[in-house]
Amino acid sequence: MKIAILPGDGIGPEIVAQAVKVLNVLGEAFEMETAPVGGAGYAAHGHPLPEATLTLAKQADAILFGAVGDWKYDTLERSLRPEQAILGLRKNLNLFANLRPAILYPELAGASTLKPEVVSGLDILIIRELTGDIYFGKPRGVRIAVDGDFIGEREGFDTMRYAETEIRRIAHVAFQAAQKRDKRLTSVDKANVLETFQFWKDIVTEVHRDYPDVALDHMYVDNAAMQLIRAPKKFDVIVTGNMFGDILSDAAAMLTGSIGMLPSASLDANNKGLYEPSHGSAPDIAGKGIANPLATILSAAMMLRYTLQRPAQADRIESAVKKVLSQGLRTPDIYEAGTTKVGTEEMGDAVVRALN
Ligand code: NAD
Repeated sequence: MKIAILPGDGIGPEIVAQAVKVLNVLGEAFEMETAPVGGAGYAAHGHPLPEATLTLAKQADAILFGAVGDWKYDTLERSLRPEQAILGLRKNLNLFANLRPAILYPELAGASTLKPEVVSGLDILIIRELTGDIYFGKPRGVRIAVDGDFIGEREGFDTMRYAETEIRRIAHVAFQAAQKRDKRLTSVDKANVLETFQFWKDIVTEVHRDYPDVALDHMYVDNAAMQLIRAPKKFDVIVTGNMFGDILSDAAAMLTGSIGMLPSASLDANNKGLYEPSHGSAPDIAGKGIANPLATILSAAMMLRYTLQRPAQADRIESAVKKVLSQGLRTPDIYEAGTTKVGTEEMGDAVVRALN
């Protein structure tokens, strides 16, 4: 099994180093190869996604990605900016399924903006379709209206569309993810208003026939937003389109308190995946040794579960993370009085010790 290691910019190299340390003590024979990406790619080869980096990402079974972006590249033309690397990887590798677990460890219940009893022990998985929907649908643009109530005025327009294949493949990913968890799937749509999402609902219902062991329910997106805040623990797995998923997954992220705790996976049709923390390159704290590496370490655990088919190793890492939190170790972003403040490396070392 080959893993491409793409640390990127800012805190990327610091946090990815901790995840690599953890992967190295599992006793597995993974081949790992590192390549520059983002600002580091531009500095080395004049492009945020150098040809050699893309080739490595294509060859590898899985990709562990840190983060990209640095203020010093903000004046470059858009196509050369670091953030283009992640878009290029998603597009080139056809990573259409974005999996974002939102887990709140009981020890961190005080870090959430919601009441501890509402969120403590939260463990949900949001699956967002990543390459379709109104974000990519054509035609789009600004034009002079030729019909409707405002003929002759300028109007902005986009196109919401989903092909059957796009819905089927994300539904399969979602049902299979639910099978690995509590076997409950909520498909979020707006079927009462949008043709696209009535079609979505019909196709998800059809795919359900292949997964009789999973309980499926359907929920309108406005209700889902409300339920996520009111009673988030009622959900197990949520699957939805690109735009609804964009919004709901950020709302769910905040239930858990710190962005430094949130892993993510972006998968293709064969479960090949790019795994990265949900946060960015945090240039404000880069080089200070205080970034929280747990989101990246938990992303490596997701890689073991979804792409490398090593669920027991994924469980081991997740248990080790729980253990260091119960020992009271905290990076500054999750620090509370009465706990022990540690840096990036110390946190990585503590996870390694807990694994052993
Ligand atoms: P950010 O997520 O990098 O940082 C937001 C805040 O969270 C900052 O205060 C930061 O210090 C803190 N933070 C983030 N990760 C942390 C961690 N692991 N531990 C402790 N604190 C952490 O978002 P931003 O400041 O809006 O963006 C910074 C750069 O990252 C920009 O160039 C942006 O384009 C890029 N970005 C990249 C990705 C990606 O690579 N997928 C995603 C989002 C943003």
